[in-house]
Amino acid sequence: MTDAVCFRCQAPMDTGAGGCHVCGASERSAIVAATVVAEDTSADAKSAVGRPATPFRQVVDNRWCVLGLLFLVMAVLGLPILWASRAFSRPAKLALTALVIVYTALLAWLCWLAVRAAYHQILDAIRSGGLG
Ligand SMILES: [Zn+2]
Repeated sequence: MTDAVCFRCQAPMDTGAGGCHVCGASERSAIVAATVVAEDTSADAKSAVGRPATPFRQVVDNRWCVLGLLFLVMAVLGLPILWASRAFSRPAKLALTALVIVYTALLAWLCWLAVRAAYHQILDAIRSGGLG
């Protein structure tokens, strides 16, 4: 806990010292101040200001990475990533969500057609193979 700062004078202070050595403020107040500072930092991270982004964040916030994941890899499974991304506005996310659902339904339909065609081919092959 060496990163705590005095709530009154902002001097760095050791929480084990029992109080601020600069202005004499109590240790308890210093801990509260340090907690507030930590919360401010996470708020900065949420608004894309401050801390460097994690690799996950960099991918999620990259418009083309998200679109690639959505349409090439994950389809509807990628929707949580779309909504976690800050690269799109809310209306864009809604539109993309609808688009991805339609796209996925289309893919599922094509898969079903392919399976059904294969199934009939197999049935025909069995029939013409002299079983009937
Ligand atoms: Zn102080």
